[in-house]
Amino acid sequence: MGKETSQHDAMISFDGAREKILSGIHRVTETEIVGLDHLLGRVLAEDIRARLDVPNHANSAMDGYAVRSVDLAGTGEVRLRVVSDLAAGGYFTAELGPGEAVRIMTGAPIPWGADQVVIQEVCHRDQDGVRLPCGVKPGDHIRQAGEDMRVGECVLRGGKRLKPADIGILAAQGIDQVAVFRRIRVAILSTGNEVVAVTSPLRPGQVHDSNRAGLKAALQALGCEILDLGIIGDDLGAIEKALEQASHETDAIISTGGVSVGDYDLVRLALKNRGEIHFWKVAMKPGKPQAYGRLGRAVFFGLPGNPVAGLTVFYVLIRPALFRLMGGGEWPNQLLKATFQGHFTKKHLRKEFLRGILTFGADGLGVEMTGPQGSGILTSMSRANALIILPEGPVTITSGDTVDVWMMDDA
Ligand code: AMP
Ligand code: MG
Repeated sequence: MGKETSQHDAMISFDGAREKILSGIHRVTETEIVGLDHLLGRVLAEDIRARLDVPNHANSAMDGYAVRSVDLAGTGEVRLRVVSDLAAGGYFTAELGPGEAVRIMTGAPIPWGADQVVIQEVCHRDQDGVRLPCGVKPGDHIRQAGEDMRVGECVLRGGKRLKPADIGILAAQGIDQVAVFRRIRVAILSTGNEVVAVTSPLRPGQVHDSNRAGLKAALQALGCEILDLGIIGDDLGAIEKALEQASHETDAIISTGGVSVGDYDLVRLALKNRGEIHFWKVAMKPGKPQAYGRLGRAVFFGLPGNPVAGLTVFYVLIRPALFRLMGGGEWPNQLLKATFQGHFTKKHLRKEFLRGILTFGADGLGVEMTGPQGSGILTSMSRANALIILPEGPVTITSGDTVDVWMMDDA
């Protein structure tokens, strides 16, 4: 540990950090009305109740013949008179009488009196009739009115992040716009004298700014507005100025680099000078040094400069927090158990997140490491579709062990 003695110097556990971050988040309350075409990924701000039964009418699930099941009560075959031919969109206005059938296509409304559909594959049509196998099966191949959604029922809850099926539900209900929470605005900046623009040729000692590009993409996928503050050198005044500006214009600020204990790690100092710092050491790997706090009304996340560390912390701590800020509930991280293949030992006491490749095999879920796990190896993150979670304390895992895994979905 460094020489500083402030209460924030203590290392906080991963669960403690997650809890502290989430409990400090205040959801946005402002809403806006948005049309169907622009709702993907937005967070619903109201409960949606069904105004319509879906389906609105009982309709056929198959192509075939709508019949009265009582007419099929005998054995062998029965011949019924075909009184109408109904395509989807058509409607049979009369009531089906004894001995009658209606030729019906998938989606067409079931005529009054009919209570069973017989699939066409087992029927034999002649001029004005059809021969069908007997067998009373009321309800067969019929989609009942309201079997999907019933009038008055809550079909979507406020706080839900809208996915394609949700947008389909709204459309099925005849709803073309709903209230969603406003987008959150997130500032992003990279720090470091060695960090240069993607288009600059590299001199010895320099690195292209991969962090900002990757994190901006992650924020876009989450549906955030982005205030891009670019690259700022290791200069306390310049960092403070950028943070100050961002704190007035955004809901959250994410920086990378400069939160460790090196001579030029100034982000933590800037946060201390201009806002509040809540902790800066989390018992996790990668991502031990990170500055978490507040600047004015903006929540602040200072990520370490190593590209893997930054993105890992984003997935496991920041995204759930931003989602809550956006008005959402709990981020739906899927915790799975998988059978590990390989060998790995950790001696440190922190929780560790390894980059893994999760596969769905005949024996269930399997997972292996992506290869070298250094926190600078960005390709390990690119190959991964999951994070293998190793608990606090020294751990060795070998082939056949069951491990905890978090799916790393990128949306
Ligand atoms: P730091 O956290 O500032 O000590 O940086 C840790 C490591 O991450 C150093 O090797 C940096 O060069 C590297 N790094 C810092 N910022 C970036 C960035 N924006 N893109 C890529 N690598 C970075
Ligand atoms: Mg640095």
